[in-house]
Amino acid sequence: MSERSEPAGVPGSGLVKGLAVTLKTMTKRSTTQQYPDVAPELPPRSRGVIALLEENCTVCMLCSRECPDWCIYIDSHKEEVAVPGAARPRQRNVLDRFDIDFSLCMYCGICIEVCPFDALYWSPEFEYAEYDIKDLLHDKDHLGEWMATVPPPPAHDPNGEPAKEETAAARKAAIPAASAARPTAPPVRPEPASGGTAAPGDGEGASE
Ligand code: SF4
Ligand code: SF4
Repeated sequence: MSERSEPAGVPGSGLVKGLAVTLKTMTKRSTTQQYPDVAPELPPRSRGVIALLEENCTVCMLCSRECPDWCIYIDSHKEEVAVPGAARPRQRNVLDRFDIDFSLCMYCGICIEVCPFDALYWSPEFEYAEYDIKDLLHDKDHLGEWMATVPPPPAHDPNGEPAKEETAAARKAAIPAASAARPTAPPVRPEPASGGTAAPGDGEGASE
């Protein structure tokens, strides 16, 4: 039953109730964090800013294509790499530009999820507000600097399933070992049937 439906009580009871709530709140321990004097305790995998590990980026453009806000800008050029013994030099992509515009980014994490080469990571750092919105465009050097703030990956769950690659490698290694351990059975000669009667197709016994 709501308080409104209660009959009117003693005059001033509402004031007493209000003061009781005030007293109760006053005696409670404060949970306010005095930011920026005290740094907030954020979960380690918080989505603060995106960090780029440039060495891992192959300029496949997946992140840029999948970004719903179109706020990743990538430029590259091709470079020839001479391979000793190869008939022709190989080509590789060289990253010229990798910018993320954090004034457009909605922190969905799709770019990090789709990157097949582990070149993008979440960093919990969030203190990069700017007075000019144009300064929220972080280039590859700036994105690379955030890598120092990326926390290490969580430890493996000892009860978790092994990685698919590990299972496949273990299965592959077990196949030759199992075939080497299998005893080779000697060929079995068919016994001639007693009484000299042999069924058609009984091998040597049948032809004699
Ligand atoms: S987090 Fe989402 S919006 Fe931001 S750059 Fe990545 S894909 Fe684009
Ligand atoms: S998806 Fe990864 S490897 Fe591909 S361009 Fe983006 S960051 Fe580079």
